[in-house]
Amino acid sequence: PRLFVEADLAAGARLPLDRAQANYLLNVLRRKPEDPVLLFNGRDGEWRAHLDPTGRKSADLVLAARTRPQPARADLHYLFAPLKSARLDYLAQKAVEMGAGTIRPVLTRYTQGERLKPERLRANAIEAAEQCGILAIPSLPEAARLPAALADLEPERLLVFCDEAAAVADPVAALRAAADPDAPPPLAVLIGPEGGFAPEERAMIQERPNSVGLSLGPRILRADTAAVAALALVQAVLGD
Ligand code: SAM
Repeated sequence: PRLFVEADLAAGARLPLDRAQANYLLNVLRRKPEDPVLLFNGRDGEWRAHLDPTGRKSADLVLAARTRPQPARADLHYLFAPLKSARLDYLAQKAVEMGAGTIRPVLTRYTQGERLKPERLRANAIEAAEQCGILAIPSLPEAARLPAALADLEPERLLVFCDEAAAVADPVAALRAAADPDAPPPLAVLIGPEGGFAPEERAMIQERPNSVGLSLGPRILRADTAAVAALALVQAVLGD
């Protein structure tokens, strides 16, 4: 297992597990003291640790050695209009698995679920990082309205605007025309809400100089499906 912990990680450090973690490792996964557990905190790389039971239901983790250095965070931004909670959990997990290093909620005219819970977004991002083996927890900037979110993007960052109305016959060719796959620019992928973008929002996005409208095919996808399809496409054509 790979576990995210908040504590600093260093050789010899001893980390007491809380009841839930101890129960998970000792009773659910039936880890023995000699079985390694991998730990990361988003800062200090990945470490191998061993369990040291301190009671029937309690244990410490003792850090042995660093197994991987801390890499830089992925530079792919994913901007999404929040959805209802259960689909938001899916969307956050899949975005991390697909390599988004920054995940930002964007509020639009037709956005649902504006009562976004940042701690739930973070919990999902951490769970996905544990699962997929990345060491850098994605950056989760606070939600912004569309104009502010667009203004916060650096001018050199190519905005891939997923637009069911875009007249793009070949999305791979569109991405290749917008950026050199051998030297890709920093990227941001923008997906709209279930209600789509309002006409003035679509115009505002299209007026941003460094952006490309991307059709993901003739069918209208749910926003969470569009996220996975768009991130996979962008990673395949312009990813590292
Ligand atoms: N309200 C819109 C409608 O009914 O025409 C559909 C919105 S769609 C459910 C949610 C978001 O997913 C869109 O804003 C867009 O960003 C993305 N999306 C869905 N299907 C797409 C497609 N075929 N190509 C590109 N983006 C798509």
